[in-house]
Amino acid sequence: MDRRSQELDTATWMRVFNEAARLGVLHVHLSGGEPTARQDIVELTAHCVRSGLYTNLITSGVGAAEARLDALSDAGLDHVQLSIQAAHGDNAERIGGMSGAHAQKLNFARSVVERGLPLTVNAVIHRGNVGEVGDLIELAVAMRAKRLEIAHTQYYGWAQLNRSALMPTRAQADASIALVEEARRRFEGQIVIDLVLPDYYANYPKPCTGGWGRRTLNVTPSGKVLPCHAAETIPGLDFWSVKNRTLADVWWNSPAFNAFRGTDWMSEPCRSCDRKDRDWGGCRCQALALTGDASATDPACHKSPLHKPMQTLATSESSTSEPPPYVYRTIRSSPDKQPSDTKMTRLDGRASGPDP
Ligand code: SF4
Repeated sequence: MDRRSQELDTATWMRVFNEAARLGVLHVHLSGGEPTARQDIVELTAHCVRSGLYTNLITSGVGAAEARLDALSDAGLDHVQLSIQAAHGDNAERIGGMSGAHAQKLNFARSVVERGLPLTVNAVIHRGNVGEVGDLIELAVAMRAKRLEIAHTQYYGWAQLNRSALMPTRAQADASIALVEEARRRFEGQIVIDLVLPDYYANYPKPCTGGWGRRTLNVTPSGKVLPCHAAETIPGLDFWSVKNRTLADVWWNSPAFNAFRGTDWMSEPCRSCDRKDRDWGGCRCQALALTGDASATDPACHKSPLHKPMQTLATSESSTSEPPPYVYRTIRSSPDKQPSDTKMTRLDGRASGPDP
């Protein structure tokens, strides 16, 4: 996480949004941390709207979020995405580690819908809430959300560190998928339900970010431009900043964006695979986390030599009777600076993270 003192100022963000619009960007996700904690969030939203960008506020719904809603709506905000940790307050607050947060989120969702703003509810699914997927769907419908994202956890960064606490069993993952498929039929025309499949039990990987450096970019609060939000987990990449470059220069010329763009970087089995320009070899961050090589085939693919070990690992981690406690993110820590007894192992048995 970036310190507040390192964040871009208002004028620089406005320049970046102008450059994004000129570059052809259509859709801006105002995220964080918590975007409503910025004093200038209304000003920035209005600026995005003036620049012709569709604006989506991705928020926890706690703190200043609700108090800023009227001003954000008046500024032309197009859409709100709210994260929830579980369907039931006691479990949601146990997972999120914040007392009173669930009730605040429900009030916030009500305020969003009352103002006529379209609402997406996002729920990251893991061992601690996989049994509540049916209730999460009912809750999102009751909240009058337009869209619900049931997203199985992607295990890199902090989630990788917490993997053994978060991994559901295959039976739990399969049951959650069946519930989503049934609910899609039941609530057709009322709510759209997106599903992010659990990689560790999949046969093919996701086309992560639609392909590295193809469709999306992330600008961090301090101005670094990333091909995906987790790209900083890959060591050795040179991430350029909008503090001293234009966004177009970063997009087209930065070494980090060109490292895995297209298909030339691929090795076998991806290089000769007919799906290589469909899934782009899967997730680079996951490939690094599990194999130690960011250019390897994502082990979520059944053609990877590490696919079976990945599934064995998931079965083993999900079958413990008592999961370990969560390791929470803090401003001063990063996953690779945790004590060695909390480090995760790769599929080759070595500690996760870059090779020394
Ligand atoms: S081998 Fe590579 S390109 Fe082919 S399906 Fe697997 S991950 Fe995708």
